[in-house]
Amino acid sequence: MPPVTSAPSSRLRPYRMPAFILSVVLLICVGVAMVLSIRSFTRSTDLVEHSYQVINTAEAIRSSARSTESDARGYRLSGRDQLLAEYLATFPATRKATSQLVVITRDDPAQQTRALEVETLVEKRLAELQRLIDIQRDQGIAEAQREGLDSPGFGQMQQINLLIDTVLTQEHHLLRERRQTMATLAAVTIAGVVAGILLPLVLLGLLLGGLTRENRRSLKLEREARSTMRELAISLEQRSRLSEQRRVLGAYAGILQSCENLNEALNVTAEVIAQMLPTAGGRCYVLRSSLNQVEALSRFGTETVPSDSVWAPSACWGLRRGQPHRSGHGPGNVYCSHLHIEDLGENGWTLCVPLMAQGVSLGLLHVNGATGGSSEDVQVVEAIAEQLSLAMINLQLRESLRVQSLRDPLTGLYNRRYLEENTQRELQRCQRRGLPLSVIMLDIDHFKRFNDEHGHAAGDALLTAIAQTLQTHTRDEDIVCRYGGEEFTVVMPEASSEDAQRRAEEIRSAIATTTVVHLRKTLGPNTASLGVATYPFDGSTPAELIGSADTALYRAKAEGRNRFVVHQLARA
Ligand code: GH3
Ligand code: MG
Ligand code: MG
Repeated sequence: MPPVTSAPSSRLRPYRMPAFILSVVLLICVGVAMVLSIRSFTRSTDLVEHSYQVINTAEAIRSSARSTESDARGYRLSGRDQLLAEYLATFPATRKATSQLVVITRDDPAQQTRALEVETLVEKRLAELQRLIDIQRDQGIAEAQREGLDSPGFGQMQQINLLIDTVLTQEHHLLRERRQTMATLAAVTIAGVVAGILLPLVLLGLLLGGLTRENRRSLKLEREARSTMRELAISLEQRSRLSEQRRVLGAYAGILQSCENLNEALNVTAEVIAQMLPTAGGRCYVLRSSLNQVEALSRFGTETVPSDSVWAPSACWGLRRGQPHRSGHGPGNVYCSHLHIEDLGENGWTLCVPLMAQGVSLGLLHVNGATGGSSEDVQVVEAIAEQLSLAMINLQLRESLRVQSLRDPLTGLYNRRYLEENTQRELQRCQRRGLPLSVIMLDIDHFKRFNDEHGHAAGDALLTAIAQTLQTHTRDEDIVCRYGGEEFTVVMPEASSEDAQRRAEEIRSAIATTTVVHLRKTLGPNTASLGVATYPFDGSTPAELIGSADTALYRAKAEGRNRFVVHQLARA
């Protein structure tokens, strides 16, 4: 599971709010500056317009004064009424223009002084002209012309023109200044607006970039957190599944310890596999002691791929290699020949796990399924196989101990304990079925002498040879045991007294010819004496029957040895 990484805090984060505030402040400043600039610009425009107005008005005064002057002179020279009319028309215009110049130059005292001077001169000039007109009208044209010659007209007009030139020069100068101011203001306003918009834009761009990066990082972290949560959930689920598996396997191992035989162990194994791998099926095989045959002892679940019941160990790759062998569907898979893999589906799988303990091959656990077969499933089967192998070797060990505890180590025959445990059972069985049961007690004649003559080891060899003879002359269902020392017992279920007598004679004569080679010397044969007792005539319990046979045996000894005596007959 990857470690949960904490979000690296952005380096720009502390500057984000100040930058935002700065952007807003800058935008407000730009707005205010623009308002102020526009107002200044408007004022400059007004001033420029005002200068133009002053210039135009001054020009108008000059032109109007000239017209008035020339109309008045023309009328004085020609006496034409039309010129008088024109003079009368331009006269008020000239006066009006001079008054207007005085009004519009109030903002500039120097210019207004000049305007007032122009007004005074113009008024003077107009009054002079009016006086000449009045003379012409009252005293005739000649008088007016004469009077006109003395009049200061030219000088007055020159003065007016000079003053107007001064006004115009001053106003043109002002106009240039104002236009310059307007141009500078426009340039500053444009620069301010551009800078004032660009700077917040850059700041906002940086902020936006930072936020976008932050957002992207947050989304990435969110994705990582979500995938971590998913992995955590999966690992928790895996952990709980593993702990459940461990619990089931632990319980299984405990139950296996208590199994008394292989069948029980195999049944428990089938159940635990069904619980842990519900969709799987398979078989449990044991390797026969001959080691050349593997035989199925149990089946479990639903087998997808049938597996043969009996086969040679070489048919399984798992057994051949001594390790688990898993196959799936498709090329590249190697299949065991005990499997019918034609039924293996696309998602099918097979697994052969050898059952081995302490280096000994015991068998095979084979599992297959139509789906699943993950490495986790394989591990589960391996763990089960390991436990089962241990249980099998334990059961084998227990069995061999049990056999050892029931056998006589020298002769390999059953011992007295086994005789007592089993004679009771066999007797009850015969009693239920109304069948007889016979017991032969046998004691080697003069065995002490044999021991004394040939040594204890030779005696042991003879005991072993006689035990072999006894086994040769009895059936599998008979119980042949060493009762103790040189005494033997044969329990023959379902054998009548006659059968037992026949068998006793066979045994006696066989022992009478049994020799043994010891230290390259042939020793024996030795004879034996036998006593025969039969249920129901000589007793109805094992102890009674053995006691009766023993009595008959002593009778045989007493009668000269190397013979058998029937208890029933002896009694008679
Ligand atoms: P009888 O014909 O009356 O039965 O004479 P016997 O000598 O066989 O009788 P006894 O019961 O006196 O002697 C039994 C002898 O068997 C004594 C003992 O040394 C010997 N014996 C008992 N168990 C063993 C054994 O495991 N190995 C050997 N070599 N001898 C044994
Ligand atoms: Mg004896
Ligand atoms: Mg004896």
